[in-house]
Amino acid sequence: MPTDPTCIFCRIAKGEIPAEIVYRDEFCVAFLDVNPLAPGHLLVIPVDHYALVTQAPPAVIGALASVVPRLGAALMQTASAPAFNLLQNNGSDAGQVVQHVHFHLIPRRSGDGLGYRWNAGAYPQGAAREMGDSYRRFLQAGC
Ligand code: AMP
Repeated sequence: MPTDPTCIFCRIAKGEIPAEIVYRDEFCVAFLDVNPLAPGHLLVIPVDHYALVTQAPPAVIGALASVVPRLGAALMQTASAPAFNLLQNNGSDAGQVVQHVHFHLIPRRSGDGLGYRWNAGAYPQGAAREMGDSYRRFLQAGC
C-alpha cells in the first residue's frame, strides 16, 4: 500500500486530518475541496499514494474513474448544477499543487464566470501526422 505520511491527501484518506468526506470505498475517497471553485466542488482520490496518473496502476485509475458517474450525478443534484468539469492536473507544470493523484469535479452553471476556454493552437501541414506517428510508435512498443 503506497502511502506518504507527509501527504495531506494520504492523511485525509487515513482520517488523520478532517475533511468533508462524501464517499469512501476500498480504493477511493471523495471529499469537498476546502477552497471550492463553486459550492459542491469535489475531489476524488485513490487511497494509495501516487503523485501522477502515469505512476498509478491502471486498476487504481479505473477504480477512481468508475465512481465519477455516481459522484457527478450526486453533484448535479446536490449542488443544483446542470453541468460540471472533470479536471485532473497532472504535474506541477500543469497546475498540480497536491502531489497525490486527484480528479476535480467542479460544478458549473451558466454565467458562473469560471471560464474554461484555453488558447488552442493548430498543426502546421504534416505535423499532426508526424505527431500521430510518434504516439503510435510509442504505444505499439508497449509503453
Ligand atoms: P491541484 O491544484 O489540482 O493539485 O488541486 C489541489 C486541490 O486540493 C485544491 O483545489 C485545494 O483547494 C485542495 N485542497 C488542498 N488541501 C485540502 C484539504 N485539506 N482539504 C480539501 N481540499 C484541499
